Amino acid sequence: MHWLQIDVSNLAGKPGSTRKLTSSGPVEGFRSGLGWIEDGDSVHIDLLLRSAGDGVEATGEAWGRLHLSCSRCLVEYEQDFRLSLDEKFYVESDLAEENEGYEVRDQVIDLEPMLRDVIVLDIPIRPVHAEDCRGLCPECGADLNVSDCSHAEQAVDVRWAPLQSLMALQSGGDEEEVEN
Ligand SMILES: [Zn+2]
Ligand SMILES: [Zn+2]
Repeated sequence: MHWLQIDVSNLAGKPGSTRKLTSSGPVEGFRSGLGWIEDGDSVHIDLLLRSAGDGVEATGEAWGRLHLSCSRCLVEYEQDFRLSLDEKFYVESDLAEENEGYEVRDQVIDLEPMLRDVIVLDIPIRPVHAEDCRGLCPECGADLNVSDCSHAEQAVDVRWAPLQSLMALQSGGDEEEVEN
C-alpha cells in the first residue's frame, strides 16, 4: 500500500480508541498554479486518528517544502509549510458528501487527497520571492532585480504620452478647478 493509505481496521467499532501515526514520504506529481512539491522531497505527517461512531477523525500536522515560481520575475524559490489538519473520514459515502469529508473504504483511509487539498490552499495565488521584487522589464524581459535596462523610464513615457498630450490640450483651454 501507498504510505498515505492507512489500514484502520483496528479502530473499527471501537469509538474513542486512538492511534498515533507519524510518517513521511513523497507526494508525486503535485503541482498547482505556480507551486509544486519536488519529486525527491518528502512530506511529513504527525496525526492522531480517533475512531468515532460514524468514521475516523484525523487531527495533527503536515509539513514539508513547497517550490514556487515568483509571479513577477519567474525566479524559483522554496518555502517551508506547516499545516494543521482536522479532517474526518466517514464510513458512509453519503455522510462524507454531506459533510464535505473523506471516505473510509474497505477499512482503509487514503490521506493523499486530503493532503493535496490542504497544501493547495496554502499556495499563494501570486507568489512573490521578495516583497520588493521588481519583476521583468515588459520591453526586453530583463530581470530588473539583476540588471537595470534603460527601458523602465522610457516605457512609462511611451505609455503616458497620449494621455499627457490630452491633458496638455485640456488644461490649455478654460481652466476649471475641481474642488473637493
Ligand atoms: Zn521575483
Ligand atoms: Zn528593458
